[in-house]
Amino acid sequence: MTIEKAVVSGEWTGRGGTPAAPSAGRLRPLGLHEVTLRPGFWQRRQHTSRTASFDHIEHWLERAGWLGNFGATVEGRRGREFSDSEVYKYLEALAWAGDPAYEDRFHAIVARVAAVQQPDGYLNTNFGRPGQAARYSDLEWGHELYCYGHLIQAGVARARTHGHDELVTVAVRAADHVCDTFGPDGIGSVCGHAEIEPALVELYRVTGNRRYLDQARLFVERRGRQVLDDIEFGRAYFQDDMPIREARVLRGHAVRAVYLASGAVDVAVETGDTELLEAVARQWRATVARRTYLTGGIGSRHQDEAFGDDFVLPPDRAYQETCAGVGSIMLAWRLLLAEGNPRYADLIERVLFNIIATSPSDDGTRFFYTNTLHQRVPGIEPAADTLVPRAASSLRAPWYAVSCCMTNLARTFSSLAAYLATTDDDGGVQLHQYTPASIRVGDIGLDIDTEYPADGRVSIRVVSAPETAWTLTLRIPHWATEATLDGVPVAPGLAAVRRRFTAGDTLVLDLAVRPRLTFPDGRIDAVRGNAAVERGPVVYCLESVDLPPGLTVDTVRLDPAAEPVDRDGAVIVTGHTQPAHDASWPYGQPPAAAFTDPVEIPLHPYHRWARRGPSTMRVWLPLDRK
Ligand SMILES: [Zn+2]
Repeated sequence: MTIEKAVVSGEWTGRGGTPAAPSAGRLRPLGLHEVTLRPGFWQRRQHTSRTASFDHIEHWLERAGWLGNFGATVEGRRGREFSDSEVYKYLEALAWAGDPAYEDRFHAIVARVAAVQQPDGYLNTNFGRPGQAARYSDLEWGHELYCYGHLIQAGVARARTHGHDELVTVAVRAADHVCDTFGPDGIGSVCGHAEIEPALVELYRVTGNRRYLDQARLFVERRGRQVLDDIEFGRAYFQDDMPIREARVLRGHAVRAVYLASGAVDVAVETGDTELLEAVARQWRATVARRTYLTGGIGSRHQDEAFGDDFVLPPDRAYQETCAGVGSIMLAWRLLLAEGNPRYADLIERVLFNIIATSPSDDGTRFFYTNTLHQRVPGIEPAADTLVPRAASSLRAPWYAVSCCMTNLARTFSSLAAYLATTDDDGGVQLHQYTPASIRVGDIGLDIDTEYPADGRVSIRVVSAPETAWTLTLRIPHWATEATLDGVPVAPGLAAVRRRFTAGDTLVLDLAVRPRLTFPDGRIDAVRGNAAVERGPVVYCLESVDLPPGLTVDTVRLDPAAEPVDRDGAVIVTGHTQPAHDASWPYGQPPAAAFTDPVEIPLHPYHRWARRGPSTMRVWLPLDRK
């Protein structure tokens, strides 16, 4: 297959592109010209990403030398083995944003990348040159195919938003090289870090070249048959312990697991493989039921950034990598498109408001890599313009030695509008997420206005509509046990209205957003006897800066009989304090019930935490009774 023959489908270009475009499934995605964010919760964050994070990322890619690696000598190469991928994720973020002001910079970076590509399509700054390890000599840790995956996803974004240009050519050449090298008669292995799989399927969807789909399927089917060497964390770390069709639950490194599962859904949908699709859906259900934090975050083991066993979800050791949140959205979105089940959109909402909104700083120039749910000691604010060596920073940092998360956030914010709504074969529109937005698909125009999630009222105004009847479907979140649509009660799940709409019609969805106590499954030992507070889709937390002098977050006990209430933007819960007594040995007799008079405890959204300087914090609050 030569590049000239690779037909790049223009179907999505005029629609502004979309990250995942399956050719089959229950729902069909919309393009970024069809759904646009308007001022509100998410548009603010998208704006910050485009106006501040882009410059910040490019500054650091240059400063850390990761951009300079394209064209550097072997001796001059800097950064970890996967640093090329951060450049590609930044290119993907620029492509989805489509801002003309960045066009020259986009081309300048692409030119640097293209100059390093070998005649046979190979492209990696860390392998293959004299003085470096040989190509594909370290599939367990080398990340070469992982880097191609992000390069190809950037190329896909460019093809769908702009059309065929140099980045697309580079991505196609790399993909052809991968197929030549890892095809049925080539190297019979996979990459230690999944990512090439969903990328190759998406390139198939862009070009129509079946070869890329076949290669993705080969990678998905090969993994799990011990094709990679065993490592200290075991083969489950990179999901090479058992075939994906046989697995019960997601396991191993959390980001790798959700990227692989995303690619498997893509392969299943394009090949009509319902067994594979159900295998992944089954693992998703088990993972949500037993291995997911209240925030929707995943990964509780620091040593290998991995899932723990079922119900191992300690809040003070919550790893919850931001990238795992991004990957979790990728997976749930693909399953939603395939099956239409609103549970997937429920999880996307949870991850968006409690992981994606939590990680970046308000000014877009710092971020959390890990997202703890219990901060025991106040962190130290890393100085501006310093590179933090460890991922587990106690406060948002400008950049890390491993900085996968910020470029992942950038590409997610740039393409966020694509996750709000879908259409289907019947010509209807489905709203999955609520934020101010305009939707223009065919003859249908909708303007959505809301203060969500602060308030649960969502106004949907019909701007244009066809002459015939069509169905508008709204997701009613699982937590919204009290909800009305135009005054009529609706239950969690889906609410559908089928009729002939006319311009000017307005529907009002009212979701009763008020604070509620949430209790954990008793098998999550780490938080047994605790409760958390949620309000709508938002998880709340207690921060030391909100407590009166003399009180600490670890002495607060929550009264589960007292209703939490809204007050001045905070949620107030009632409880008591139980002073801590230091002893020479912290085990022994049951503690005395030394409760004080009732105290009011103010909570704020978890995604707002650590924005007012160093603090201690907890999401789960012990109850004041046994
Ligand atoms: Zn990351």
